[in-house]
Amino acid sequence: MRTIISLILLFFSVFGRSQELNKVRLYCQSNQSEILQSFSEFLEIPNIASDNININRNAAWIVKYMESNHIKNVQLLTSITPNQPPVVYGEVSVPGAVQTIVFYAHYDGQPVDSTKWFKGLHPFTPKLFSNSIENGGVQQNWPSKGLSIDPECRIYARGASDDKAGVMAIINGYSSLFVNSILPKVNIKFFFEGEEERGSGHLEEILSKYKSLLKSDIWVICDGPVHQSGKKQVVFGVRGDTHLELTVFGPKRPLHSGHYGNWAPNPGMELSKLISSMKNDSGYVTIKGFYDDVIPLTPSEIKALSLVPSVDEQMKKELGFKKSEILSPLNNTLNLPSLNINGIESASVGKLSANVIPTKAVASIDLRLVVGNDWKRQQNKVIEHVKSQGFYVTENIPTDEERARYEKICMISRSDGYNAQKTSLDNLIAKRVAKAVQLTTGESPILMPTLGGSLPLYVFEKVLNTNPITVPIANHDNNQHAENENIKLKNFWDGIAMFASIMMLPK
Ligand SMILES: [Zn+2]
Repeated sequence: MRTIISLILLFFSVFGRSQELNKVRLYCQSNQSEILQSFSEFLEIPNIASDNININRNAAWIVKYMESNHIKNVQLLTSITPNQPPVVYGEVSVPGAVQTIVFYAHYDGQPVDSTKWFKGLHPFTPKLFSNSIENGGVQQNWPSKGLSIDPECRIYARGASDDKAGVMAIINGYSSLFVNSILPKVNIKFFFEGEEERGSGHLEEILSKYKSLLKSDIWVICDGPVHQSGKKQVVFGVRGDTHLELTVFGPKRPLHSGHYGNWAPNPGMELSKLISSMKNDSGYVTIKGFYDDVIPLTPSEIKALSLVPSVDEQMKKELGFKKSEILSPLNNTLNLPSLNINGIESASVGKLSANVIPTKAVASIDLRLVVGNDWKRQQNKVIEHVKSQGFYVTENIPTDEERARYEKICMISRSDGYNAQKTSLDNLIAKRVAKAVQLTTGESPILMPTLGGSLPLYVFEKVLNTNPITVPIANHDNNQHAENENIKLKNFWDGIAMFASIMMLPK
């Protein structure tokens, strides 16, 4: 009998929830043109973190938008260091609610090279296309009031997916509840950062300064793409990140490659040999101790990973290559530290190619980290490896004396960095967030132990002692960080429904 009663109760709670979510979706449908118009207006404001004037314009725009969407106590949170991008904060207190969720997204974006964008596109002139450009999408007019628009359409602009879509989806998630007089089940705090793409250098200062204001039970981060299978994913961790720049030196001035070729040392060749010494043919990094600090996955994480659909064949086909670099499935690879070449530069190629021996060759190296790695220690391992290959390592341009003394010289500059973070898959409130996501799609989301990408989430854990989880909304082919960044409207609308559902956190 008790089972029947609980089944009936479950039916009514799921039924009630789906009615509420229908209202949310209906709100989005009937306000499509207004929401997209605001989104477009927001995307028109350039958002490179180093561009102070425009960053402040973005922050001011968000303040206004939040206020017009019934959010209270909207304010800018600033770091102690002056003139840094502010966080835009707001809140909603719900009578009787005992738990609080902070929703995070960032409004700054990666630097742009507008010459690389598809013909007719500009990073800060948002345009609507009927589909992805690769799939033959053509430009569309923005919808007029009352007209609905195909959810396969995409908006192209810097920040369209990473991560102004997150800001818009979170605010509209709340707004869609408010206008339908649906009361959230938790207190809500909004936290929109303005320098995530520049490494969140002042996040720790802001979190420390506003520690009591930011008290919560969990942080829900909206950033990154949904799983390549198209399924929603709830991500329990992120990798850490740091960089090194390696410069290998050749002759002091560029030389004629006929007169001196194969006699004068070629820095391009030396750098190539150095880099190729860092990996074996199976794609694993051969640098001493590179994987030593990695903390093994827990049984829950191993089980969750085994349930993640494999996308290796799909992605190889989509991306046009036959063999992956590392002989391990993509989902497993994300749980390992990585070493990647972000760029290599020496003399020119193509039309500007000349018969010279260049003076130097430079490589930018990206190190992604997992829990157990320390970013400074990981940098040191690479530096020790460079030394082990016979290089004299310096932080400065080599002097004549050093050039005379050492056969091989490598200048290494270190960037800042941060470590990885993971929240337990058994965290109770995180499980309820996953359930809220499930209620919007009807199918269990993928529970992913870690995102391949990086966010400075360890700072939340360190300063606020809280466990963040990430619920991305963007399509996996959104070109984030590159030219032609875009968001598929279906993902955007689904995102709004998902945040509304999380705000009505199920038991
Ligand atoms: Zn992002």
